[in-house]
Amino acid sequence: MTRHYNFCAGPAALPQAVLERAQRELLDYQGHGLSIMEMSHRSDEFVAIAEKAEADLRELLQLPDNYRVLFLQGGASLQFAMLPMNLLGNGGSANFIHTGIWGKKAIAEARHLGFDYYVAASSEANGQTAVPRPSALKLSDQAAYLHYTANETIGGLEFDYTPEAVRPDGVEVPLVCDMSSSILAAPLDVSKFGIIYAGAQKNIGPAGLTLVIVRDDLLDQACKAIPSLFDYKAMAEGGSMVNTPPTYAWYLAGLVFQWLKADIGGLDAMGAINARKAAKLYAAIDTSGLYSNPIVAANRSRMNVPFVLADSRLDADFLSEANVAGLLNLKGHRSVGGMRASLYNAVPEDAVDTLIAFMADFEQRRG
Ligand code: PMP
Repeated sequence: MTRHYNFCAGPAALPQAVLERAQRELLDYQGHGLSIMEMSHRSDEFVAIAEKAEADLRELLQLPDNYRVLFLQGGASLQFAMLPMNLLGNGGSANFIHTGIWGKKAIAEARHLGFDYYVAASSEANGQTAVPRPSALKLSDQAAYLHYTANETIGGLEFDYTPEAVRPDGVEVPLVCDMSSSILAAPLDVSKFGIIYAGAQKNIGPAGLTLVIVRDDLLDQACKAIPSLFDYKAMAEGGSMVNTPPTYAWYLAGLVFQWLKADIGGLDAMGAINARKAAKLYAAIDTSGLYSNPIVAANRSRMNVPFVLADSRLDADFLSEANVAGLLNLKGHRSVGGMRASLYNAVPEDAVDTLIAFMADFEQRRG
């Protein structure tokens, strides 16, 4: 068996220790004589798995008691619709900070559903190479919440501060954040947020699971005609088991949380490793004559590092040689081209060192 280094943006690398444990427990989960995939979600065994996953996540994030954790389906994209449905039942406008492709999709979905929306700040003018400064943020009078994308996975643009969601009349509204590609990468002060959500397939587990962390007081603002599976309150009251949840993905997420606690040592330690990984790769890009990344230093993503080659005719060779060297999935998103190395939690520092050595060697031979 050979496992290569995987820089995929998502579904992304999972910790090898997690996969090995899942393999050991696959056919016979802890002597029960069946796989987790074959168990009722209401069985004592699965309920214990689900509760432990939540408890470990709460410990990792030091979640205050007034936040509920929901394990949902539909990906982060379904949250683009569920958020206005759950928060605009009493009217008002969904306000957005637009810093890239995912934030734009969130705006498009609110518009598609006929909700009032407003772009409170945008980085379009600078070609999405820097997030708007705090002074550029102007919420609308009717703002009911402010949504932003902490880390734009495609552009590799990350916020270096937490925005303040204050309307012109001085009223503070809930801050809602898409953390699909940055959750659990470093410590986080959840108390600044009303809602945090993330598709699982980057730092949490396999695709098919969506994590939503919602403050209690936001469970009562949904539109009347909301399907119950979209209703945060119904899902919170039903323990995320209003219908059959994605049990195996939930179990794997739980293993990832255990790995973060026991093998890594929590989010402080994870944050330090991630900072080192990203700093090395950006330094290698900045000191080369072949590779470049356009993002201002303060907003460079720790998780997704896009870069281009000075001569795009070398792209195909770069990718095929990287593949041969066991460095997988470095192709940039189809909408922007170039390269992208995603350095999520499960991508080890060795992988980054190997990538940097490969890039230097390729530049020396071909640059
Ligand atoms: N938001 C961000 C920041 C993402 O990176 C992605 C997926 N790459 C999405 C939303 C959409 O997630 P999903 O495919 O789970 O709907």
